[in-house]
Amino acid sequence: MDILENQNEIFPKGEKASAEYFTGTAWVNILVPKDETGSYAVGNVLFEPGCRNNWHTHPAGQILIVTGGKGFYQERGKPARLLVKGDVVVIPSNIEHWHGAAKHSSFTHIVITNNTKNGAVKWLEPVTDEEYLECHAANNPKPVKINLTEAAVRNHAELFPDHVSTLTETDPELIEIFDNFAYDEVISCGNLDTKTRVMMILASTIASKALEEYKMFVNAALNVGITHMEVKEILYQSVPYVGIAKVVDFIYTTNEIFTDRGIKLPLDGQSTTKRETRFEKGLELQKDIFGETIDNMHKETPKDQMHIQKYLSANCFGDYYTRKGLDIKTRELLTFSMLTALGGTESQIRAHIQGNINLGNDKETLLSVITQLLPYVGYPRALNAIKCLNEVTTK
Ligand code: MN
Repeated sequence: MDILENQNEIFPKGEKASAEYFTGTAWVNILVPKDETGSYAVGNVLFEPGCRNNWHTHPAGQILIVTGGKGFYQERGKPARLLVKGDVVVIPSNIEHWHGAAKHSSFTHIVITNNTKNGAVKWLEPVTDEEYLECHAANNPKPVKINLTEAAVRNHAELFPDHVSTLTETDPELIEIFDNFAYDEVISCGNLDTKTRVMMILASTIASKALEEYKMFVNAALNVGITHMEVKEILYQSVPYVGIAKVVDFIYTTNEIFTDRGIKLPLDGQSTTKRETRFEKGLELQKDIFGETIDNMHKETPKDQMHIQKYLSANCFGDYYTRKGLDIKTRELLTFSMLTALGGTESQIRAHIQGNINLGNDKETLLSVITQLLPYVGYPRALNAIKCLNEVTTK
């Protein structure tokens, strides 16, 4: 969850602060250094979650201007003050105090320190864990009790170990309803393994243009053993179905997540066709999946629209479906997931239900995909896909 934070930092984070005076990791960027004419030194300090400085005093006081995150300021013997973006703290001369981030949030402030009087900061002992946790307890509202089933907790933790959604504090009743539903009731239904389920949900978030949920599920995907390359291939597979205009933001975001995790881009190439072979290979694959439907479709297509049929073969199938990294069965199931999430695509859903069945993704599997998508795409789209499934399979 911290990967995506700190995107709104104003200043570069600078140098690591001395471990002698800080508990945890902080970064200091001196914006205006001390000078001999004796005015103010100005710096930007970024505290990582859980980091705080030691108790200390300033001979001529200090001003804090909070620019991001959540943190605390405490004077000796007084309750800690919770700080968020926009808060300003005026610290009197020679008052013992500390400042730093909250346990689960980074925290950034600008410090303006007056250097005109007697020397510099006087560092004292570290803030103890007891003192630090006490200020959290004092500033937190009563913890809200959420009743989750054992299965819901377990299945959620499998995807998101150590992650506590901020919604558990702000919307506890919704989280209780949603998590018990999606992570227990729904997951217990159908035949998908965890990896397939997460892939299908991930694909549906792209088709739903749900970038925040997508970010969550990219991390879930990597947590359950889906590779970086597979995530990229799901994205590429979505381009011909969802359209680049909607997909491009997801590509940028994915690249940021990968770069933050130290993954070098571009990933290894997965293309298997060339300009000369893409039409032929694509058409071959189309026929493997859909059988003689393809020939019939070509026969029925008016001459002035044949170029679209050519695009389908060369581009949609020849460029994308022929790529390595995901097998055809998985790609076809991903397409079904995206079409279901898109909505208004019933004729394509029916065609790809047949394609899936031809490849061995049976009715139970397709119904399982729809079931797992339901919490994320809603009832109308799930029911429309089920209607298509019934139509195709009773034919
Ligand atoms: Mn200070």
